[in-house]
Amino acid sequence: MRWRTTSPAGSSDVAPEPEGREERIPAHAASVGGLPVRRALPTRARRMAGPWCFLDHVGPSVLADGQTLRVAPHPHIGLQTFTWMIEGEVLHRDSLGSVQVIRPGQVNLMTAGRGIAHSEELLPGSPRLHMAQLWIALPDAKRAIEPSFEHHPVLPVIETEGARITVLAGSHDGERAPGTFHSPLVGLDLSARAGAQVSLPLDRSFEHVLLALDGDVTVGDEPLAPGVLAFFTPGRAQVAFRCTSEARLLLVGGRPFGEDVLLWWNFVARRPDEVVRAAAEWNAGDGAFGRVSGYDGEPLRAPDPAVAGLRR
Ligand code: MN
Repeated sequence: MRWRTTSPAGSSDVAPEPEGREERIPAHAASVGGLPVRRALPTRARRMAGPWCFLDHVGPSVLADGQTLRVAPHPHIGLQTFTWMIEGEVLHRDSLGSVQVIRPGQVNLMTAGRGIAHSEELLPGSPRLHMAQLWIALPDAKRAIEPSFEHHPVLPVIETEGARITVLAGSHDGERAPGTFHSPLVGLDLSARAGAQVSLPLDRSFEHVLLALDGDVTVGDEPLAPGVLAFFTPGRAQVAFRCTSEARLLLVGGRPFGEDVLLWWNFVARRPDEVVRAAAEWNAGDGAFGRVSGYDGEPLRAPDPAVAGLRR
């Protein structure tokens, strides 16, 4: 798409810089592993931001006695799970044999490809929890690749006047995150100081989602409450925000995905028969996904796809 100016012919007015449209979309409340989460993607209004097709924000919370996060073994296909830990320590186990604690400031990136299973448990002694878990849809040519798991304990950090920017995925301002990704994308954690005014350059070929995770944030002229996402269509060159308190934000985006994906339960597919088959294979426990060893408890069962109107 090409941008046109609307200036009258012969006018010497400089056309305003073309910018993508901003939409405000409420996240919805959901529950994962016993804890309330804010689900920012998918929503009715916007299902994806680039390849990012799922975004859960958990916390920041102080856990009550006995309250914890425990997600029993469950399968994935066709996606990468991306975990960004801000507070708390979570133990990841998967069917490749990975056993990894993720700590604050670290990323876990699990590529499901043709199929993987994993469990996640908050470690005892983690009184606080704050994290984001996202899914990245794999493009058609990559969605059946072999599963793999990456743990990234160190990520590039860019210090600016107002904010400390951690590059979680893709690249920003010359710094590249270490994870292996399969579509053009970006993920940034923005830790802003009270009183900060930040102008963040964006890749104009990307669409973006900006979420306030904590603190008082105003984007443009409008406060951005936690639980509301600001979605920017492609064409946007920068986003400006200011913070009246210390604040934490998450920005994710990417080139519009361009493929219709089918999200059902923990699967990202294209056709109903694929998720029907994956659910049956998982529930049969026939080993197509492998087993998660060491988790104390029963695996999750896939719901019946027929109940959701999905047929082979
Ligand atoms: Mn999972």
